[in-house]
Amino acid sequence: MDDVSAVRGKLLDWYDRQARALPWRVGPAERRTGARPDPYRVWLSEVMLQQTTTPHAAPYFEAFTVRWPTVTDLAAAADGAVMAAWAGLGYYARARNLLACARAVATQHGGAFPNTENGLRALPGVGAYTAAAVAAIAFDAPANVVDGNVERVISRLFAVETPLPAAKPELARRAATLVTSERPGDWAQALMDLGATVCTPRSPRCLLCPLAADCAALAKGAPETYPRKTAKAERPHRFGLAYVSRRGDQVALVRRPPKGLLGGMLALPTSDWAAAAPEIPGGWTHAGAVEHVFTHFSLTLQVVVAENSGPDEAIWTEVDEARAALPTVFRKALDRGWG
Ligand code: SF4
Repeated sequence: MDDVSAVRGKLLDWYDRQARALPWRVGPAERRTGARPDPYRVWLSEVMLQQTTTPHAAPYFEAFTVRWPTVTDLAAAADGAVMAAWAGLGYYARARNLLACARAVATQHGGAFPNTENGLRALPGVGAYTAAAVAAIAFDAPANVVDGNVERVISRLFAVETPLPAAKPELARRAATLVTSERPGDWAQALMDLGATVCTPRSPRCLLCPLAADCAALAKGAPETYPRKTAKAERPHRFGLAYVSRRGDQVALVRRPPKGLLGGMLALPTSDWAAAAPEIPGGWTHAGAVEHVFTHFSLTLQVVVAENSGPDEAIWTEVDEARAALPTVFRKALDRGWG
């Protein structure tokens, strides 16, 4: 990024023309007439947006601000009324924090939100992101406001190759290089709008992007592959034997040890589950294999069958009863071995 002020100029010009009209926003045209955002509305919107999308949050925001137009009104509300109004936004801990924060602002700060990141951060339930967003948007403090949308834009602009989440500090550092004391609130919102409407996750609309000429990821091709992500570790594969020992209509089951995978459940007797495929033991007939995928590994069980060869601790169980009681992996093996 050669010229920070040119990049800033392009994005702020774009924001002046394209800013989304949002119920909590004082847009760039209004800002120019001297209008200032209400910190209460900025804070409320940021808390709601951590929970849900802009279109879903908007009616909740309208309802809250009609019913409780100021933070002091919200602070005086009954807990139950706020919880009920929050229903549909999910995650009630946030509603509780919302009330605690409103009450702290009302009682400890005379109804006025602190105007610095540190002051905001000290309020109940206000994290680093919300503090930065409110400081920038409501108070025009040059705070570095970095959420997932902004991380995406920055990772593309600078073609950051480090995968997430390890890239987070680098992305925040690079985002900070673009923050100045000129229009910090508009800058934060311009980046948010770019991420939400143009530099979208799957198909960024680079043809419409005011920063296309400055975007390192676009220059390299495939900007949608940024931010890089750590490849998911491959699930290991294991092999084992499952013994189906028959005695008339009964099959030999065992109870698995109380701790560990399928702990305490009824099971077919098995070998250890190892990285290498086991040999079919003498005296047993191979009936085929079943596959099963657990959360942390996948498994191939070779099913072997014999008459009356259960272990000493076998629990001889009617086959229908066994089918009903066994976890899926063993039921599949039983079905394979029983014929
Ligand atoms: S050019 Fe494309 S990838 Fe780069 S910032 Fe703009 S929209 Fe995002």
